[in-house]
Amino acid sequence: MRQLVELDAWKIKQNELGKDQRAYESIFSIGNGSFGQRANFEEKYSDKSLLGNYTGGIYYPDPTKVGWWKNGYPDYFAKVLNSCNWIRLDIEIDGYSLDLSKLKVQSFYRELDMKSGILSRKFSCQLPNKKQIQVNCQRFCSMDNDEIGAISYSITSNEEVNINIDSFLDFDIKNEDSNYNDYFWQNVEPLTNDECDLIIAATKKTNFWVALSQFTTLNINKENFINDSQKTVGDRFVSRSFDCFLDAGQTLTINKYISVLTSLKYDKEKLIDLVYKNAVQAKKNTYEELKADHSEAWQQIWDNADIEIEGDINAQQAIRFNIFQLFQTYNGKYSYLNIGPKGFTGEKYGGATYWDTEAYCIPFYLKTSNSSIAKNLLKYRFNQLDKAIENAEKLGFKDGAALFPMVTMNGEECHNEWEITFEEIHRNGAIAYAIYNYVRHTLDYEYLEKYGLDVLIAIAKFWVQRVNWSEDKSKYVILGVTGPNEYENNVNNNWYTNYIARWCLEYTLESLQRFPNKIQLEEIELHRWRDIIDKIYLPTIKGTSIFLQNDGFLDKEIIPVTKLARNHRPINQNWSWDKILRSVYIKQADVLQGLYFFENHFSENVIKENIEYYEPLTVHESSLSPSVHSILFSKINNHKKAYEMYLRTARLDLDDYNHEVHEGLHITSMAGTWLSVVEGFAGIRANENGLEFKPIVPEKWQSYCFNIMYRNQKVKFDIKKKSSVLTNYGEHAVNIFMGSKTYNLEPNSQLTIIC
Ligand code: BGC
Repeated sequence: MRQLVELDAWKIKQNELGKDQRAYESIFSIGNGSFGQRANFEEKYSDKSLLGNYTGGIYYPDPTKVGWWKNGYPDYFAKVLNSCNWIRLDIEIDGYSLDLSKLKVQSFYRELDMKSGILSRKFSCQLPNKKQIQVNCQRFCSMDNDEIGAISYSITSNEEVNINIDSFLDFDIKNEDSNYNDYFWQNVEPLTNDECDLIIAATKKTNFWVALSQFTTLNINKENFINDSQKTVGDRFVSRSFDCFLDAGQTLTINKYISVLTSLKYDKEKLIDLVYKNAVQAKKNTYEELKADHSEAWQQIWDNADIEIEGDINAQQAIRFNIFQLFQTYNGKYSYLNIGPKGFTGEKYGGATYWDTEAYCIPFYLKTSNSSIAKNLLKYRFNQLDKAIENAEKLGFKDGAALFPMVTMNGEECHNEWEITFEEIHRNGAIAYAIYNYVRHTLDYEYLEKYGLDVLIAIAKFWVQRVNWSEDKSKYVILGVTGPNEYENNVNNNWYTNYIARWCLEYTLESLQRFPNKIQLEEIELHRWRDIIDKIYLPTIKGTSIFLQNDGFLDKEIIPVTKLARNHRPINQNWSWDKILRSVYIKQADVLQGLYFFENHFSENVIKENIEYYEPLTVHESSLSPSVHSILFSKINNHKKAYEMYLRTARLDLDDYNHEVHEGLHITSMAGTWLSVVEGFAGIRANENGLEFKPIVPEKWQSYCFNIMYRNQKVKFDIKKKSSVLTNYGEHAVNIFMGSKTYNLEPNSQLTIIC
């Protein structure tokens, strides 16, 4: 663990240009749900860096690279494409390249203002001819209009200088994680007219089109505009260069207005025309006006989604960082986009969709936003149902059984490790669970009838075919799986998988009964579902209420993590895979993931017994792990452990707990952090009848405060050590359940509850 940034309630700050530029590039990433980028410098930087610009949903099917091919493997791994670099400004001052890795840097300051969504930088450096240069720059990807971005870049010198600026749209970009070092783009076509530069390119194989446009304007001291420019059209780039002369103390400001469009949203034929019009429109405003609209859009997000924490600046900064990054990654407008574990901040895991969305992110968006956001995420899977059925067919399933992919961009499976691709089938359960979660939160039964039910039935059919009857056990069993704990592969009867499979059947039956005229399944089929529900194998450890993670688990040497030498951790970087598989160590919540989802099925004592057994064996080497633990520890009133787990999830990236932030941020687990405050410390649960509330205030905090969007109404929770004030801003009363008491919170009214 190392603290990478300065503490501040609303800002992420870096005061020195450290060596670890890649880590900072991840942390300061910006985006608007449609496109995003790592915090690379606009000007040249020739030291270690991962140049990263990504456009939502635009991927390349990189041919699979495995040692030994297995039937059923997807033939590609979808890579979210590193796309056109639109921030690039090559700057020469008196003939010297402005490159902070080469020049003498005298001061450096970078800031991400999360409140307004602005990334800015200030630095001064000395040229080899001893002249002093000051740079002040900032940029944003607009949250107000997710098709545009803008840069303002100012240079001041203490003596007169000649400056040459070359402003690029550069498609000469490769993915660092390319399997065969291929260039993934084709038909790159740079264009230019009097003022505007344009570029369009298609992805190889998938044939998505991405078009960008830029206007670059220059002025000195905000008055003298420089219009003379030289255009260069290269094979894979277009650029526009300007020469100017700056007197001592004068400031040159470069403004860059860009637009990014894709064929996911528009006809390919219209892209160039539209992207041009967009940039023209953007340039009609000043940079400051565009920035104000962008910041206003952020303000609206914060009005609903902020968490204010009094008394703990570490926790305050971290929670805002997580909320900020989540909304930068998914803006909720499109059902064809989703939330990649690394969002727009890196390449590993890319922007592909995992079960993380359903298990972690949907609960976050459900409570922080209008329900249309969660609905779009559900529709994403609904729209991919046919592919999920095809995916199951490839593996030998039939009659409309669906296996949703572990990793996907378009509905096809594209993960290349057999133990995950074929075996981590629990993901189907999370997709069904998300439908249940959405419906109980919103009461949108129309969604269930129109879309959800088809998904549930296809998932139920999968489970029915995936179980088999064990004569030996006189039970239905599920063999050869990997549970959420990826440090056990090809195990039989992973408790979590068996439990969620049974629940899927139960919930689908219940939903079918609600809409008896929609789909009629044959009684014989339903009879088999009920038989599986009754007789699925769900063992506990003898003499306890602890659910057995999987068959054979007790044959392992049960040695707690505290006995592991520090230098052996993380075990996934220090041990052979074989050693990991034979060890008892658990990567992430597994049985406990089930207890979290289905907490109402179990008493607090059962939850306590299980978490006290499994947590000491858990290494939390998935970023998804600590938050579930934190919530469960809160549930059983172990506040110390709940807080310890919270800190681990909240500052995972800011303090680089896993020494991997240079690869990108852990976006999906950030939703878990939010849940550990709202569901964990505040004990909020949303159900059909209202909101449950069982708050504690962590020792270090004085108070905290947040809103819950419940049925699209805002309810504010202001929680202090001795009392809480709840405000209902909506038009309907909301029931608040606290222990055995029920409060009716009337519209536009406040309630004070003494704890
Ligand atoms: C976890 C998975 C998760 C994936 C993406 C893996 O390390 O084990 O559960 O889906 O990361 O976040």
